[in-house]
Amino acid sequence: MADKVKDPVCGMMIRPEDAAATEEHEGRTFYFCSHGCHNRRAALTPRDGCRSILPPVPGR
Ligand SMILES: [Zn+2]
Repeated sequence: MADKVKDPVCGMMIRPEDAAATEEHEGRTFYFCSHGCHNRRAALTPRDGCRSILPPVPGR
């Protein structure tokens, strides 16, 4: 029943309730399987570079 979400760093499909970390970006919530992935995403974001790693926003 629970929808799985994709960890944008490693691509793993996880359940939101299993996410070790979450982050909101442009009104969307992203889920990370581990703090390591969350930290990696942060490290890959010098400014707004997360757009290059996060999936594109549909309808834009
Ligand atoms: Zn991950």
